[in-house]
Amino acid sequence: MNPMTLQPTPAQAWERLSKGNERFVQDNLAHPNMDKDRREKLRLGQNPIAVVLACSDSRVPVEHIFDAGLGDIFVVRTAGEILGEEVMGSVSYAVNSLDVPLVIVLGHEGCGAVAAAVEALDGGDLPDDHQRILIERVAPSILVARNEGKTKSFEFERRHAAETAAQLIQRMPKLGQKSAEGTVGLVAARYRQDTGAVETVATYGGVDEQRTVATINPDTPAAP
Ligand SMILES: [Zn+2]
Repeated sequence: MNPMTLQPTPAQAWERLSKGNERFVQDNLAHPNMDKDRREKLRLGQNPIAVVLACSDSRVPVEHIFDAGLGDIFVVRTAGEILGEEVMGSVSYAVNSLDVPLVIVLGHEGCGAVAAAVEALDGGDLPDDHQRILIERVAPSILVARNEGKTKSFEFERRHAAETAAQLIQRMPKLGQKSAEGTVGLVAARYRQDTGAVETVATYGGVDEQRTVATINPDTPAAP
């Protein structure tokens, strides 16, 4: 337990980050928690309100998108937000040792890893170096989406974020238990470059009152 402050609930943490993203969308950044006092206070320890697994894409800088500051977000980034042991170790540290109440898997518009996986499934060449792992870890999400009749890149990007969040729950028993209890919330989301908005794809655990499980929002308008 971190003695610095009480943690927000999963819903409160998501609301705070959503409001930060709204400011980003409106070009009205507050740049919270970026001053000298905050920096010095954090020498005593960290108490982030969320862990975000995002793509490494240079156009998806997590703290900027959520208008967050020092010590606010525990960030893990891999190309295509793919999972591996190191990623899950980092997520576990945040959730189980820092008591972070919210996990966000953040995909994005124009993801190169998703596009490469689609291309490979369509008969394109597989990379012959370490990039091959990107295809291997994203392709199953594309297959799931295609089985649902999805054909567009934004649909693949959404499905990949949701599949990755679902995998985190399945492969991390403690996280799965906390999600089921509602003490940790999970959000699968997709960042849109056109508007700057983070669109919710699916929620799990203690994020909303209904405790929706893996609901893909059918009302979200078509995206580029
Ligand atoms: Zn990407």
